[in-house]
Amino acid sequence: MEINLPDGSTRKLENGSNGLDLAKSIGSRLAKSAVAVTVDGEQRDLLDTLPENSSVSIITIESEEGLEIMRHTLTAQVLAKALKNLYSDSKLAIGPTIENGFYYDVSTETPISIEDLPRIENEMKRILEKKSNIVKTLHSEKDAKKMFKENEETFKIEIIDDADQAEDFQIYTNVDEDFIDLCRGPHLPNLSFIGAFKLTKVSGAYWKGDSSNEMLTRIYGTAWRSEKELQEHLKSMEEAEKRDHRKIGKDMDLFHFQDEAPGMVFWHPKGWSIYSTLRSYMSDMQKKGDYKEINTPSVIDRKLWEKSGHWDKYRENMFITEIDEEHANEKRVNALKPMNCPGHVQVYNQGIKSYKELPVRLSEFGSCHRYEASGTMHGLMRVRGFTQDDGHIFLTEDQIESETAIFIDLLSKVYADLGFNEFEIKLSTRPEKRVGSDEIWDKAELSLKNAVEKLGLEYRIDEGDGAFYGPKLDFVLTDAIGRKWQCGTLQLDFNLADRLDAQYVAEDGNKYNPVMFHRAILGSFERFIGILIENYSGNLPLWLAPTQVTICSITDEANNYVKEISELLRSNNIRCESDVRNEKISYKVREHSVSKVPIILAVGKNEVADKTVSVRRLGSDETSVVKLEDFTSSLVQEALAPNK
Ligand SMILES: [Zn+2]
Ligand SMILES: [Zn+2]
Repeated sequence: MEINLPDGSTRKLENGSNGLDLAKSIGSRLAKSAVAVTVDGEQRDLLDTLPENSSVSIITIESEEGLEIMRHTLTAQVLAKALKNLYSDSKLAIGPTIENGFYYDVSTETPISIEDLPRIENEMKRILEKKSNIVKTLHSEKDAKKMFKENEETFKIEIIDDADQAEDFQIYTNVDEDFIDLCRGPHLPNLSFIGAFKLTKVSGAYWKGDSSNEMLTRIYGTAWRSEKELQEHLKSMEEAEKRDHRKIGKDMDLFHFQDEAPGMVFWHPKGWSIYSTLRSYMSDMQKKGDYKEINTPSVIDRKLWEKSGHWDKYRENMFITEIDEEHANEKRVNALKPMNCPGHVQVYNQGIKSYKELPVRLSEFGSCHRYEASGTMHGLMRVRGFTQDDGHIFLTEDQIESETAIFIDLLSKVYADLGFNEFEIKLSTRPEKRVGSDEIWDKAELSLKNAVEKLGLEYRIDEGDGAFYGPKLDFVLTDAIGRKWQCGTLQLDFNLADRLDAQYVAEDGNKYNPVMFHRAILGSFERFIGILIENYSGNLPLWLAPTQVTICSITDEANNYVKEISELLRSNNIRCESDVRNEKISYKVREHSVSKVPIILAVGKNEVADKTVSVRRLGSDETSVVKLEDFTSSLVQEALAPNK
């Protein structure tokens, strides 16, 4: 039989060959690291018989896919078996992979806590010693249920009942242990591929995520190809924990959340200072980029959401409000806006637009609300109420390339100003289900590519990952500890202008729908501030720091001088605070360092007499004595936003 390889070549194999046979025919090194195969786009087990004329690529343990299969096999075959061995009454539920690791959900009579994890790890290591083969067999529904009934695995039986198939249930058996697992696969062919791992935490989770079901124990772990990779990961987790914006946000007194408004931020004065400084910076940058800033209503009648298509496709994520209009019998149903786009089209639609006016760039710091499930919220990173640095550009097809270049130029300046000099670009192209002719998709995708290439930037293509209404570019930042954050986006839309009747008069006198760009640079202020806090570990650049200077008295005799300095700095738009408490100066310095104040001034008798200040910078033990006048004038320059 013939098999098609990813490089376009074909290979002849004996009928009935499997992925391992194919790997061996290519090379012994490949055969040694092969763990599974992709057959016609679907992952399969390495030892599955290959279908005639199929397209096959080998998944090795070195690849990301291979690593994921390793993590899954570790949880499904090894962690699960270890739990069975240690807790004889345990019932196994599911064991999927997550970013960098895996978890297993299990029901046990004896509670499992974090102290039990080393014992479970040791049992896993014991199971791994035999480097057992894992063998897959196929079973009918009846047969499969019988196998799990013997062990009273009620969750597995429920999974079989829920499946809409009667045959071909896959069961994976560890040949050296008395253990079977039900799974779509693939699994490793052999446990010798398992690298280094660690169980990390324990939490509760409802069966099928439904709070009316039983609460199970969820055991998390992380796994890597080598001990070195594992240690690097654990170190970066530790670093990330130290930088957690929720912890730093508390130390710096920036914001809080409370149960009455889940996922919505209560900004404290200092947090709001960061927010409004960032917002006015963005506003300046966009005005320079010829955006017109607007503001549109938060509460809008469902009729508009029906017209825009959100009511149909997005309703479960929308906050709905019902209002009885006074003196009217009609009950109006409104929604809090989850997006600003329909509002922007209403502004564009006022008055007739000529082709000469295009592109029209509208921006809004649009306050949006989206209902997110409570389990998915995470500090500022994932919230229900947020403000986007949103913008929509109305343009002709011929302007796509130039507008893309203009947008990326603006975005790179903003990122560089905020401390991110490098970013990745992802181009998502046409999906199967889409609106618009192939001609316009060709033109749009090519324009996006050309713009990026002419700027000399690299990009990655995500084939088929575009929205149904157009292709898009996504921009991904890397932070100080190497984590990736997708922030910016530039999405073309061939659909919305038509849906909401946006038009322009072209040179030929006829009316056409413009194409639209949806775009954001930061994404949302909330999340971006979370990213900034973690990237800088709270040590924000001076221009963004909520308190730029704290003036501390060393003795009561300096209190009036402290007041004088504070008035002078404030009149120069410096954000400062005074500390004239009766505490030791070393105590004051320590406290203000914890709250990340970049500059601490200490003033005592000498400073009063000489009209000087002792300056101390965050992270340095050195102090320098400077004339107040000189300090103020240089600080004013230093504290300017980078675009001033
Ligand atoms: Zn599995
Ligand atoms: Zn939009």
